[in-house]
Amino acid sequence: MGYEKSEAAFEEAYRYIPGGVDSPVRAFGSVGGVPPFIERGEGPYLYDIDGNRYIDYVQSWGPLIFGHCDPEIENAVIETAKKGLSFGAPTELETALAKEIVELFDSIDKVRFVNSGTEAVMSALRLARGYTGRDDFVKFTGCYHGHSDSLLVQAGSGAATFGAPSSPGVPADLTKHTLLATYNDLESVKRCFEQSEGGIACVIIEPIAGNMGLVPAEESFLQGLRELCDAHGALLIFDEVMSGFRASLKGAQGLTTVRPDLVTLGKVIGGGMPVGAFGGRAEIMHKLSPEGPVYQAGTLSGNPVAMAAGLTSLRKLKANPSLYVTLAERARKLMEGFEAAARSAGLPLVTEVRGSMFGFFFTDEPVKNFEDAKRGDNEYFKKFHRAMLDRGVYLACSSYETGFISTALDDALIDETIRIAYEAMQSIH
Ligand code: PLP
Repeated sequence: MGYEKSEAAFEEAYRYIPGGVDSPVRAFGSVGGVPPFIERGEGPYLYDIDGNRYIDYVQSWGPLIFGHCDPEIENAVIETAKKGLSFGAPTELETALAKEIVELFDSIDKVRFVNSGTEAVMSALRLARGYTGRDDFVKFTGCYHGHSDSLLVQAGSGAATFGAPSSPGVPADLTKHTLLATYNDLESVKRCFEQSEGGIACVIIEPIAGNMGLVPAEESFLQGLRELCDAHGALLIFDEVMSGFRASLKGAQGLTTVRPDLVTLGKVIGGGMPVGAFGGRAEIMHKLSPEGPVYQAGTLSGNPVAMAAGLTSLRKLKANPSLYVTLAERARKLMEGFEAAARSAGLPLVTEVRGSMFGFFFTDEPVKNFEDAKRGDNEYFKKFHRAMLDRGVYLACSSYETGFISTALDDALIDETIRIAYEAMQSIH
């Protein structure tokens, strides 16, 4: 495969855009090489400007559960756009999408739309703090909740500790209320509750972590979090920006009995357009402006075109819930194929699947938290990623990302990908 046009495009982009990209991971920094510049997508495929075709397992980092250019979503976008792009006034589309979400999630009585997952989590955190009147909160190392200041705190030593900002420009004052705990380790959360002087406003977690590779929370751990939060009057927030409508129709909440107080959503609920949302129990949501004192707003929030894309996606998913069974079967088949390919090449590999989400680590050890995830061999990952890309398979360009199956990917394409994975595993050994 040639990448000459992408190389030139990247050089040109570099002149005008920091790092040549609008979101850092797109620069292929952790795997090296030039990122293919995309011309278009169609069904399960991406096409780059050099004319290369890839089977797409990234799907714009999760939103495109129906693959590229789904005709119904496309049509909803076009028809809605014809009536105007934005009004900054209420539309019935917002209510319709809110209703779909409320009907599906028993933890959500009311929901508000924003424009990204970052905004959703930032707003939910403010609401939790406003509702409880407390400042401290707990997050887990290896969980990503967008790039707002107090959430941008990296993994520490694994012990519960007050956070240090992971980026220049984030004042330490803004992260001193962020307490870090270890995923799947309830004791570390208990230590945070003990350490906090002003009290914990909330514990925020990806109930299926997708930003340290794919690492699900154990059921007993989630139950323990619920009990701890209840005992201390803290709120439990499930960040389902990634797992919402991905892990199951009800997101991670379709796979656990534990219910959060607040939920954040994004990605699939926008059908490929920029949308985020946060919702929860009515008594908490009523604290939001204009009803309550907790301020939150957005010029383009609830944008009609984005609402139409999301609404069409959710209605399609709701009308055909069995597609999650098929998506999960395909994800499992793909991961079993990767495992067999790795074994045949004498490489260590552990894999994970939740609904249409999949992940793999080049290690023999089980992965339960970020420290475990970091033991995955990144050199193998880099070589595997390159070998797959060069053979027409587009995988996430970091070992800490999750892969996605779309309904556009059929069994034949999964088989084809597994065949390519055998070749790729042999080539990197
Ligand atoms: N929360 C989770 C769990 C995510 O995976 C992401 C993004 O990947 C975000 C929040 C931030 O969403 P966005 O990139 O739309 O701001």
